[in-house]
Amino acid sequence: MSGSTGCREAIALLEDWLKAELTPEVAEQVRAHFDRCRPCFRHAEFERRFLAELEAAGRGDRCPERLRAELLREIRGADPA
Ligand SMILES: [Zn+2]
Repeated sequence: MSGSTGCREAIALLEDWLKAELTPEVAEQVRAHFDRCRPCFRHAEFERRFLAELEAAGRGDRCPERLRAELLREIRGADPA
């Protein structure tokens, strides 16, 4: 079956997807995968927020590693496994 995006493919495309660098067709397939795959959705949501926070922080004094840890904790707390 073609046209179905797997987890590995979705994650591999995630960064380009977040940066809107994919064709609309591929972007839609990735989005559709995140819609039906909870683990990938959480992964995508984390990366999206991480990139947004980095952007918001600019090249300021926030440490990316610390920010990543904070977001991970927040996401896990908001949606316990
Ligand atoms: Zn998946």
